[in-house]
Amino acid sequence: MDDREKLLSAAADALCHSQRVAVCGHVMPDGDCLGSVLALGRALQKLGKDVVLLSPGPVPEVYSFLPGADEIRLEVKEQDEFDVFVSVDCSVPDRLGHFKDLLHRAGRVITVDHHAGAFVFGHIYLNDPEAGAAGEIIYDLLKLLPVKIDVEMGSCLYVAIITDTGSFRYDNTGPKTHLQVAELMKLGIPAARINKLLYEEKPLVSMLVLREVLKTLNISPCGRVSWMSISRDTLNRLHASDEHVDGLINYPRMIKGVELALFFKEMENNKYKISFRSKYYLDVNKLASLFGGGGHSRAAGCIMEGDLNEIQQRVYEAALIALRDWSK
Ligand code: 5GP
Ligand code: MN
Repeated sequence: MDDREKLLSAAADALCHSQRVAVCGHVMPDGDCLGSVLALGRALQKLGKDVVLLSPGPVPEVYSFLPGADEIRLEVKEQDEFDVFVSVDCSVPDRLGHFKDLLHRAGRVITVDHHAGAFVFGHIYLNDPEAGAAGEIIYDLLKLLPVKIDVEMGSCLYVAIITDTGSFRYDNTGPKTHLQVAELMKLGIPAARINKLLYEEKPLVSMLVLREVLKTLNISPCGRVSWMSISRDTLNRLHASDEHVDGLINYPRMIKGVELALFFKEMENNKYKISFRSKYYLDVNKLASLFGGGGHSRAAGCIMEGDLNEIQQRVYEAALIALRDWSK
């Protein structure tokens, strides 16, 4: 047994020997954390556990079709106690948002993550940076539990995997990703329908946001950095929410010659969420960590406060240095 297998088996063991379990994703929840939380949660429910599914941020409308999504809770009661708390897809405890203090209230903490160089926390720390999605690790964990993986769990895992691997386009996609998805397809999951729901049923407001955002498209003189932004005023005027901005960063990245795409989204007055995406080589995890954020080598993020122009200038300058260092 290698270390990963030992940790998986320790996690499965801890879950089997517990009764009250909380499973929690990260702030600004995405398909990977939600699909993973729901798949594991459903498996534990089937095993007769008292399970609480937690998300420190509201579930985006696009994921509301996931089986069990309506059971996800945004708060816990002060008296709630858990034998085990499972943190899913969080590279640092802060990503648990207001549920961070549950780390100290639970008997045992299991961390399931796939971020390279992440902060080590929890009693059983299961981090596999080779995994394209946390969902890939959850799938391996489910196979160790005495429960049959059903179509609902399979669908949740499928969403976790396709959203984090960009539908198998990103270089975090490995042979194992495809093999696991083949197994999920054998369960009879409605893969084509899921893809339509995720990618071909955009609300009109998403297109209106795209129209505004494209007006802010900018590119560096060298052609390697491109960025876009959106203000809270514009989002409010369009009655749009954060989820209508998700994925728009792919537009600047898809420009030929661009290595680094940046997206500046105003969260509140003078507070910006910055997304980083690279195409072939730039480590954006490193770049975002210069500003207190993090993520993966090709997708990362951070939060910064201040004037938009100054923030853009700071990030842009750091990006040019990172690109120059890489070319050396
Ligand atoms: P996105 O740009 O889609 O919000 O985030 C891309 C990836 O970057 C996420 O999957 C997550 O791993 C990471 N990430 C985003 N924002 C933050 C942040 O503020 N802090 C850290 N540590 N990671 C982040
Ligand atoms: Mn993930």
